[in-house]
This record gives sequence, C-alpha cells and structure tokens, in this order.
Amino acid sequence: MFDKILIANRGEIACRVIKTARRLGIDTVAVYSDADRDALHVALADEAVHIGGPAPKDSYLRGARIVEVAQQTGAQAIHPGYGFLSENADFARACEEAGIAFIGPGTGAIEAMGSKSAAKRIMEEARVPLVPGYHGDDQDPALLRSSAEDMGFPVLLKATAGGGGKGMRQVWSAEEFDEALAAAKREASASFGDDRMLVEKYLTRPRHVEVQVFCDSHGNGVYLAERDCSVQRRHQKVIEEAPAPGMTEELRRQMGETAVQAARAIDYRGAGTVEFLLDEDGSFYFMEMNTRLQVEHPVTEMITGQDLVEWQLLVAAGAELPLQQDEVVLRGHAFEARVYAEDPEQDFLPQTGTLQFLQPPEENEHVRVDTGVLQGDEISVFYDPMIAKLIVWDEDRSRALRRLASALSDYRIGGTTTNLDFLYNLATAAPFMNADLDTGFIERHRDLVFREREQDIKQDLPAAALALLLVRQRETRAEAGDPWSPWQDSGGWRLNEAHRQLLQIHCHQQDFDVWVERRNNGYCVSWQDQQAFINGSLDGDTLLLEREGHRQRAVLASTSEGFILYGQDGACPFHALSPDTGESDAGSGGGDLAAPMNGTVVTLLVDAGTQVAEGTALMVMEAMKMEHTIRAPKDGTVEQFFYQPGDLVDGGAELLQFAAAGDA
Ligand code: ADP
Repeated sequence: MFDKILIANRGEIACRVIKTARRLGIDTVAVYSDADRDALHVALADEAVHIGGPAPKDSYLRGARIVEVAQQTGAQAIHPGYGFLSENADFARACEEAGIAFIGPGTGAIEAMGSKSAAKRIMEEARVPLVPGYHGDDQDPALLRSSAEDMGFPVLLKATAGGGGKGMRQVWSAEEFDEALAAAKREASASFGDDRMLVEKYLTRPRHVEVQVFCDSHGNGVYLAERDCSVQRRHQKVIEEAPAPGMTEELRRQMGETAVQAARAIDYRGAGTVEFLLDEDGSFYFMEMNTRLQVEHPVTEMITGQDLVEWQLLVAAGAELPLQQDEVVLRGHAFEARVYAEDPEQDFLPQTGTLQFLQPPEENEHVRVDTGVLQGDEISVFYDPMIAKLIVWDEDRSRALRRLASALSDYRIGGTTTNLDFLYNLATAAPFMNADLDTGFIERHRDLVFREREQDIKQDLPAAALALLLVRQRETRAEAGDPWSPWQDSGGWRLNEAHRQLLQIHCHQQDFDVWVERRNNGYCVSWQDQQAFINGSLDGDTLLLEREGHRQRAVLASTSEGFILYGQDGACPFHALSPDTGESDAGSGGGDLAAPMNGTVVTLLVDAGTQVAEGTALMVMEAMKMEHTIRAPKDGTVEQFFYQPGDLVDGGAELLQFAAAGDA
C-alpha cells in the first residue's frame, strides 16, 4: 500500500479521500488555489501545496504542475477525485510517465470512454444495448438534422465530449433543431473545447439507473448493485438512492453483468459507473461509463458497508478486489441529497455568497454529511456550487426517506440561497414516497416541489414579524443597558412602546406592511386582509412559537441581508425594509434584463436596433459553466447592449436597453 498520496481536487471529495487515507494510515498532500487558502481540505491534509490562481485552468487543471508537486513531496499516487483531471487521459499518462500511480483506470479505458460516441461504438461491438441514435464522425448539420428526422422527434443532442449536462439539448420538433444545435455546440465548445454532437432518441419516461463496477488488475470484476438517479434538474442528479426501488434480483443481475461486460470490453481497472436508461418496460440501454468515482458513491457505501475509496487505493496499489461477487451483501436503503447554492425558483440558477451561518444536521450511524466547507467560507464563481452531500441510511426505503426529510429540515444555511427547501419538498412529496420515479419527475410535479407561495406567506410572515419585534426589543434593552431592570422582561411589551406597531418586512419576494398588536397573551399580526394570532419568545437564536396551542421551535440566524428563520418546513429569509426607502429596488422595470448573476457574456444574438417579439433570445451569458439565455420580456426594440462577448458582468447589472412596443 502507499505511504503517501496526493489529492488533485478540492471541496468535499478531497476531504472524503483524506478521511479514508487517514484511517488507513496513509499521509496526504492537498493542492490548493488562491481561493482555497483557508479551505477545509487544506486544513485536513498532512501537507498542502499552493498551485496557482482561483480559476481551475490556473490551478486544479494544471496537470504538469500537480505531477511536479507529487514528485517534490514524495507522493506515490494521485487521487483525482471527480471533475477536473479525473477523466483526462493525458494527465493519467503524465502520472504514469513520472512513476506515480494514477488512482483510476488505465489511459486506454479513459480514452475509450472519453468520447460518448466512440464509447457507444465500443459498446455496440461488446453487445451492450444502446439507445437508438447517430454517433458518427460526420458532423454536417444537415446530416445531424436528417438523422433526427429519421429517428423521429423528440431527440436529444449531446456533446460527444460532454458531461455534467452541458452541451445537451432536447429538441421537440424540426423547427427547433437549428437553434438547439447552435446552442448545444456553443456550450460544448466553451466547456470542453470540442463541439461535436451525437443525436439520440429521447426517451420520454425513463429512469436513470447506474451500476457501480469495480475491476482489479488480476482479472476480477464485480458490480456493487445500482443507484437510481432519476430525480434530476437540468439533466443533473439531485437526489440519488440505492438500491433502485422495485429492482428485482433478476434485473439487477442482468444489468450488473452487462455493466461488468462493458468494463471488461475496455480492460477496465478501478471504480467505474455504467449509466443506463431503464425504460418503463424493463429494457435498459447503455448511456455512458464514468471512469472515476461518482459524486453519489456514498449511497452504495451505505448499503454495502464498503469504503469505495479504500477499494480504489487497494486496486491502484495492485491488490485484488476485497470481495467476490457472491460476497457482496446489500443491506437497507440509502439516499443522498445534493445541497447546492442555487435558486430553484430561478430555474436552479447557481448562487454565490458567504456561508454566514452553517449548521448541518448531527452525524450518526444514520446520517452522514460529506462537505468541504465551513461557516464563513465563500461559494465563489470559480467552482461547483455544491455545499454538501447529505446521506442517510435505514433498514428500508420509507424509514430512510423519513430520515432524509428530518435531516433536511435540520440543515441550516444562511448567506446564500440554497435548494434545501426544494429538497425537503421533494423528500416529502407523495409520488416520491411512493417511488413513482422517472427523469421527468421534477417537471411533472412542479406543484408539489415548488411550494405554494400564499401558504408560505401565511405560515412565515407572522413568525418573521414576531421575530423582528423580539429582536428589536432585545436591541432596545441592550442599548438601555441595565439587563436586570424590571422593564427588561423578555416576554413583555415595553411600557413606552405603542400598542400597535407597523413593521415593513420583505419576505417571499414581496414587501408587506404588517401590523402587530399586543393582545392578552400574545400578538395579533395582520397584513393585507389576513390576520394570525401568535405568541413567542426569543432565547439566544431559538425562537419559541405558539399558534393556536401548537408550540414549535425555530432557529433565527442573522445575515448581512437580514434574517433567516428556520422552521419545521424549511427556511424563510426576510428583512426589515428601512422606512425611508419604502419600495423595493426591483420595481424599476429593468429587472428582467439584469444579469442573473456574476458571469461572462457569451454572445449577442440580435443587433442593436432590432425589433423583437416577446420571448426572443437576445443574448447568452455563462456563469459556473452553464449558459443562461436572456429573452425579450415583451414585444419591443433592443436599443443598445451594454456589454460585448467576453465581458465580465456583475450579477444585477443592467445588460441592455430595451424599449417595449407601445411605450413612448
Ligand atoms: P452528462 O454526461 O452530461 O451528465 P448523460 O449522458 O449522463 O449526460 O445524461 C444525463 C441525463 O440526461 C440522464 O441521466 C437522463 O436523465 C437524461 N438523458 C440522457 N440521454 C437520454 C435519452 N436518450 N432520453 C432521455 N433522457 C436522456
């Protein structure tokens, strides 16, 4: 076994690898960029070496520099994690040439699976079933289009070099084909420097079921059951589980053996994942093979009781696989939820920000939190906005799912918008509890997973108003100085305060005038034509609430923008409006044409002066490797663009001047 390894990655996966290495008595070397000087992975490793600027190309993608660091520090092997250099054959080769073990498959296998279309050709020969489609070298747009027409719409365009859902577009009709092809190609060349495409029949109700395989260099290969990753947004996984609900022993064996056969076809070594689409009739089709550890590997670890990073290290050091196929035993059910800094209400737009408040649920034998951040850390534009992976396990699916919901409601993050509420809504949605899954789940159940705003306001606004009132009382008392004075009673209404107070609160994207009136044993909170009776007290950051005899506990966190109230059903950010502004800044009419976040302008799609119809795509921005199209809010004229392709733009900045038709 190795004495020392280098981890060519950052964030949660670097921390994850370090944990196993430490348990096995292996020393670790971390590498870090300027943005990660104080990052958790740097603190956890035995040694850490600075490798460059914050942009991945200046640090985590500098293969030659990383190999050099491994040599200097005497690391015998490099673990690439996932993303960055993990599927880069040149990097694996550079490691080999430097006499350092690459913890992953051989370069041949990486190359074979690196192109989705070449992979499909290999799998076709190995008699692994494929989704019908075109994966040829000829990239003539007319040919791509006619092959789409031949197989019939809908089709899916995929970048052959793709990954992470980038460069992928659904096309529902021939009319949409050209625009979709251009957009997919642009995204692919920006992300992978390669805009070749393949065209596939788009299955309308498949499940994403993938098989974990492992091979060693002694000819052994096993599968460690499967994971169902059907719950996706933008074709990216949100919640994964193992085993796949409804899986029969027979189908598991068929898919498992097919996956091992696929791995053998490319002389595979180490951990790999063979992704399949499982159709409603039980037929399954090879989609791609990921030649690395997957983000969602923990659910497999939870049900098999194995440490997959340990397996990777063993195989890379030349040992045999720890288990034979018939020794793999499955127990219970596991879920993983990916906690992201993103705004589900804005089409899952990645968010940045400082994690001013971070309180994960307590870890125990049922709950595991894989993360790479601490309170105070920054979610920056440079890296993936994943904050953590929340993993739960229990004896069966419904118990595990209850654990997931409860751990999610205990997870508290302030300082950036997250998908926590959205995940909670997913975990408690009836069709999800019934395991009625397919990749269109989120789209089909929008009403369940995006919460009813009216209901939220009724629930949250009175609590927010009371919290604000109690905070202000506390501040006034602190200013008054004497904490022991009889006037400082925490539940009380100060004598010199008005009987009825007006608070102006912004919550759930709206501004409210809220009247709070003292009643015998509580407060009457009223807004618009609504009212609610509530009582409570604030003890440190815990808000005790009582409504109609129902007592609940919530946590109040303060952030630079205001407050966040974490209740039973999720988080409610709110802030008091300062009396002199009175109106929100979104009212200027330009809101729709502002940059959704910090990013880069990719392309302008119309000329200044052009008249356009509502919904016309006007320009494309890129942020965190995803493209965002800015569209005309109404019929009108684009008068001027304020930015050109390549320009960096701050979130919120006005992008262009637009005159709506009919306006003077
Ligand atoms: P990437 O490597 O970019 O993540 P994949 O090829 O793994 O892309 O596909 C990601 C997801 O897209 C799949 O999990 C599935 O939900 C969906 N998908 C891919 N191919 C098809 C298809 N032919 N029909 C329907 N959905 C598909």
